[in-house]
Amino acid sequence: MHFAFDPRTELLRENLLDLMWSHIHPAEPVFAQQLGALDDRWAWDSVPVLGELRAESRRRGLWNLFLPGEEGAGLTNLQYAPLAEITGRSPELAPAALNCAAPDTGNMEVLSMFGTEAQRKEWLEPLLAGEIRSAFAMTEPDVASSDATNIATSIVRDGDEYVINGRKWWITGAMNPNAQVFIVMGRTDPEADRHRRQSMILVPRDTPGLEIRRAMEVFGYDDHDHGGHAELVFDDVRVPAANLIGREGDGFAIAQARLGPGRVHHCMRAIGVAERAIEMMCARAEQRVAFGRPLARQGVIRDWIAESRVRIEQLRLLVLKTAWLMDTVGNKGAHAEIQAIKIATPRTVQWILDKAIQIHGAGGLSQDFPLARAYAGIRSLRFADGPDEVHKNALARAELSRRAAAGDCRPAGADPSQPLPTTARSHP
Ligand SMILES: Cc1cc2nc3c(=O)[nH]c(=O)nc-3n(C[C@H](O)[C@H](O)[C@H](O)COP(=O)(O)OP(=O)(O)OC[C@H]3O[C@@H](n4cnc5c(N)ncnc54)[C@H](O)[C@@H]3O)c2cc1C
Repeated sequence: MHFAFDPRTELLRENLLDLMWSHIHPAEPVFAQQLGALDDRWAWDSVPVLGELRAESRRRGLWNLFLPGEEGAGLTNLQYAPLAEITGRSPELAPAALNCAAPDTGNMEVLSMFGTEAQRKEWLEPLLAGEIRSAFAMTEPDVASSDATNIATSIVRDGDEYVINGRKWWITGAMNPNAQVFIVMGRTDPEADRHRRQSMILVPRDTPGLEIRRAMEVFGYDDHDHGGHAELVFDDVRVPAANLIGREGDGFAIAQARLGPGRVHHCMRAIGVAERAIEMMCARAEQRVAFGRPLARQGVIRDWIAESRVRIEQLRLLVLKTAWLMDTVGNKGAHAEIQAIKIATPRTVQWILDKAIQIHGAGGLSQDFPLARAYAGIRSLRFADGPDEVHKNALARAELSRRAAAGDCRPAGADPSQPLPTTARSHP
């Protein structure tokens, strides 16, 4: 086992870090100012400075790094993970500048893996070129959507078309007028086996019957610099049957396939957020003086700084191990670790952001520092792609069944040198 990045990753890291310091960080205030001047505040990807950053990323070969295979940069999960971490240092700008921002990344993966030739030509190509954006519409206000088998929007075949009826909410990016296509999950066969009821279908934004009703807010932020999170209504929306992705009943399996790499991307970006918070924490603690000495000389503050470092190093190792497992044994083989990082990352980064805010005093809560906004974003990750409790439930189930499969039903502390009782060994 060795912990160094390979030469290709090192070169890309160097190139990306240079782009961050020379172009992306200086563009952050410009982006905020130009975004504020837009006629349509949701059209964030039309901000001029973002166009310039995108051109520079392409020129440097830092484009579509997330996508394996010939269509993308051909990186493994382990090669891309440290690059995603770097982009997390500027979460509003860097992922989009590299055409590596969610939810487009997951949608491009779906089209790349499951799309037909025609679907890839119509939607994947402009997405890969950064010309359009997209959204992924699964969650519904009327059912507990952490259980994807509950999804109830109906998708009914009618001749050469499918007719869609239902309501969705929290659909990230959908307020942006340039999000021209939605991947919609709905129910094609209510009578089928639980995991074969749903399908996924492509719905162009301008399809009659599709209403973009309103934007949801996260702790009062409307996230317009990400295209918001929309509520959508589908009222007899008709699309050609050829818009179905895969076959009827494949929806649940496609949703599972979409989530693996996306979780590593989210987690590594969140680690980038935490690294920036630790830097801000240290800088503020050194400079701010209370009760006669810098905050950095107070034991409790030093404890937070040290704890932050320990926690983030532990977390990064777990996420990188997960990326490595996905590359070596596949997403299915890495399932338990993917769930573990989804649980561990938001809570660890949330803890670090909380301490960074505390060190900044009331200023930490304000618009003058990026910490409060980052806190809201990381807190929302404990829901996006499934709540913590669902992942813990599945992880515990896997742990218990692994123990049972190994026939190891000894009570904790039992002497492992003694043979197991026959009944325990034959336990299923
Ligand atoms: C910022 C943000 C962006 C999002 N973007 C998208 C998007 O682009 N597309 C999309 O489709 N969705 C999106 N979502 C929605 C997100 O995926 C859902 O909120 C999530 O899957 C949970 O579904 P729910 O809100 O219906 O919660 P519910 O399913 O109603 O669950 C509520 C609570 O019940 C508890 N619970 C549920 N199951 C269990 C269990 N087995 N054991 C113990 N407790 C349990 C949990 O505490 C859970 O939080 C986004 C959400 C946020 C916050």
